[in-house]
Formats: sequence, structure tokens, C-alpha cells
Amino acid sequence: MHQVPREDQLELADAIAAGAKRRPEQAFGEYFSDHGGSCALGAAYEGAYALPRDPHEARSIRPRLDRLFDCLENVRRRCPVGCNKRLPLNAIILHLNDDHHWTREQIVEWLKQ
Ligand SMILES: [Zn+2]
Repeated sequence: MHQVPREDQLELADAIAAGAKRRPEQAFGEYFSDHGGSCALGAAYEGAYALPRDPHEARSIRPRLDRLFDCLENVRRRCPVGCNKRLPLNAIILHLNDDHHWTREQIVEWLKQ
């Protein structure tokens, strides 16, 4: 496990928050639901694509996504609810979303801690 800058996790948190705003309904067990909802990771992917607001910034989207995925795959976190699971960040995020039914906003706050 290599060290991933903390700012990448903050950027991931921002991506989830941005994605959650685009789809207010939360999905469980799937990235995007038939009803137009998204789970925390679905929101992260959608939010990451939507992040650059001005066209000049849009050019930087590729490295940003690479860093986002790097953070998702190479950071291991322990489940904050206390069930002793220790998994890569993407799996923990799905676990919090699907098993503990955390809201995407709760997951965002946890990532920012
Ligand atoms: Zn857990």
C-alpha cells in the first residue's frame, strides 16, 4: 500500500457530494437505479465527470479521475461502524452504502474526517 495524498480523498468526497446533488435519490446494491438514484460510488463517478465547471479546467479531468481511482483502489480503510472489516476504499464505500445504509452525505463527511 502506497501513500495516497489526503487531498485525493477530499476530492473523492467532493465528487460524491456533487453526484448526490445530481441524483437526490440513493440507490442500494447498484451504482444507478432504475428510478434515477445513485449509490455513493455511482455518485462519485458521475460527480467526478461533472466536477470541472469551466472549459479550461475540463482539460484536467483525466489525471483527476486517475487519482480518484487510485485512491479508491489503493487506500484501505476500516469500517467506521465497527464491524472490523478492513477493505479498499471502494469496497468500504459500497459496504457503508449497501450494508449499513449510510447516506451519501454521511459517507462524504466520513471521507473528510
Ligand atoms: Zn461495517
